[in-house]
Amino acid sequence: MSRSVLVTGGNRGIGLAIARSLADAGDKVAITYRSGEPPKELIERGCLAVKCDITDQEQVEQAYKEVEDAHGRVEVVVANAAINRDQLLLRMSEDDFTSVLETNLTGTFRVVKRASRGMLRARSGRIVLISSVVGLSGSAGQANYAAAKAGLVGFARSVARELASRNITCNVVAPGFVDTDMTRALGEERREEIVGQVPLGRYARPEEVAAVVRFLASEDAAYITGAVIPVDGGLGMGH
Ligand code: NDP
Repeated sequence: MSRSVLVTGGNRGIGLAIARSLADAGDKVAITYRSGEPPKELIERGCLAVKCDITDQEQVEQAYKEVEDAHGRVEVVVANAAINRDQLLLRMSEDDFTSVLETNLTGTFRVVKRASRGMLRARSGRIVLISSVVGLSGSAGQANYAAAKAGLVGFARSVARELASRNITCNVVAPGFVDTDMTRALGEERREEIVGQVPLGRYARPEEVAAVVRFLASEDAAYITGAVIPVDGGLGMGH
């Protein structure tokens, strides 16, 4: 199977692990990156890297054009790119709130909407959104991020219903704490506190999230849509 796959924010962290995993599965992988240089290892493996800021509709359109020219219409899209700007509610500026919503929720809308065009025509496709356990449980200091991640669930389930008759699935992966730049930015004390709350007692490796994305993108997951799959070491149990 060699499908045209697009992973946003595939230059590092979980996105990079997803790109590697899908390339290992034999797919034609394209990633978007926003800053810096794309990872050499992906380029050497024949993956395509396109520069794209998902807050800019024109850049999203241009990225899809580049991917379609090189690999054909996108058959699998993984909306992974996101930011956080953590702050307690009273200290959170409107810009802290709207910029996180703009990237994590509206940016995902742009990416998924554009992918759906080709998928509808082809009457097949796989859409996977990366949310977070905190979208369901909430998190002090993350009202903006949790709101955006919760929004992805309603968005995904609406898209799943709209596109199901065309054989397009749309699912959400909700990771817990994963060892990436995003969580390394937390202090050591906070990191240890978090580990204490996780039944499995450790952070996830990015590859453990990637494995679930790879499954949801596969033929084996053909009958799964509108699902929220936790990869959180048991942190969100009950939500
Ligand atoms: P990182 O901070 O390591 O990477 C984020 C990626 O998103 C980078 O590639 C970044 O690009 C890209 N990005 C951010 N803003 C934009 C934008 N406006 N346009 C395009 N790309 C953008 O994050 P993780 O790998 O940790 O997280 C990946 C996903 O998993 C995110 O959706 C995150 O919310 C989610 N998640 C992560 C958890 C964790 O514990 N790490 C837990 C739960 C969910 P650039 O390199 O240019 O900054």
